[in-house]
Amino acid sequence: MSRSSTSGGGTALLLVAAGTGSRLGAETPKQYLCIAGQPVIRHAVARLTPEVDLIQPVGDAEPIAAALAGLAYLPVVPGGATRQDSVRAGLEALAPYAPDVVLVHDAARPFVPPGTVAALLAALEQVPGAIPAVPVADTLKRGGANGQIIETVPRAGLYRAQTPQAFRFPLLLALHRAAPVGATDDAAILEAAGHAVALVAGDEQNIKLTYKEDLVRLERVLMGALIPRVGTGYDVHALTEGRKLILCGIEVPHDRGLAGHSDADVGIHALCDAIYGALAEGDIGRHFPPSEASWKDADSARFLRHAAGRIAARGGVLANADITLVCERPKITPHAPDMIARLAGIMGVEPGRISVKATTSEKLGFTGRMEGIAAQAVATVLVPG
Ligand code: MG
Repeated sequence: MSRSSTSGGGTALLLVAAGTGSRLGAETPKQYLCIAGQPVIRHAVARLTPEVDLIQPVGDAEPIAAALAGLAYLPVVPGGATRQDSVRAGLEALAPYAPDVVLVHDAARPFVPPGTVAALLAALEQVPGAIPAVPVADTLKRGGANGQIIETVPRAGLYRAQTPQAFRFPLLLALHRAAPVGATDDAAILEAAGHAVALVAGDEQNIKLTYKEDLVRLERVLMGALIPRVGTGYDVHALTEGRKLILCGIEVPHDRGLAGHSDADVGIHALCDAIYGALAEGDIGRHFPPSEASWKDADSARFLRHAAGRIAARGGVLANADITLVCERPKITPHAPDMIARLAGIMGVEPGRISVKATTSEKLGFTGRMEGIAAQAVATVLVPG
């Protein structure tokens, strides 16, 4: 978000996350369910952040903070008894920022297709409201209480409304303050007051997570929108007397440890560099300069947490990582499961995405002479294209 919060103007995103998701049968409200590696609400925010200046979530502060960790948004506003009340609360919270435009979006819609917001903003040049919508393709029937058809409803001119819905902010705020009768979306509030609302092309992929079947469809859509990026990392530390040996986040019993400014965890350092490399965000030395005293003997888990946070901040997910340790001794294989579990825990991914293996260098070179340990790592991250 580029604009300062006090300058006024710009586009605000009002994110309605107050729903409880009762139709899905899950205990977790649907906006917090994980699809393609991250919560639904996080997908929505990651996709819309580049398009807006302010983000105002409405709902429960705690789960929203957990789902949006590391992303920029205004303090969460509690939701109301109805969707309309929740939107009103968000609009009031945005009022001091005086945005020109507000996009009202359901947090349960994680995939807003590219071009949607641009089309909405273009339509707002002519009319005070615009929504994405898709024409109804199925034949519509009105059913009776006995489970039989009463009539066929002509579908010509009928659309299914989606979000984000875009409005001139001052008008939508004024209409909400005038307390119209219950509306299921914000376009209806403008319609009731006689204001024009434009229909722009919606997209079948802009799915609102409502039923169990939607989870599979959304997984396909969200994964398909991610681009794989691969990075490599390589690191070496010398073995020295009087240090604990820390490898891939765990202490490994050995007569010597690795020398270095931090805990010298060569495996984690290589993995961090692979991740930074995949994101084209430099290397571990750029993010944690060795000249800074605070990294002395530091637990390298901290570096890996940062690297994982950078994936998250880019709206991405770690597809897999593969680390190879090069040493004659100690034997790595017995410790590999613990290393994998620890690395996965630090990064918050399932252990199946991480591989730790080892090789010797046939007693050749510095690793062969047991002067040091080398590590190389490859990481694949999936990020929005
Ligand atoms: Mg290092």
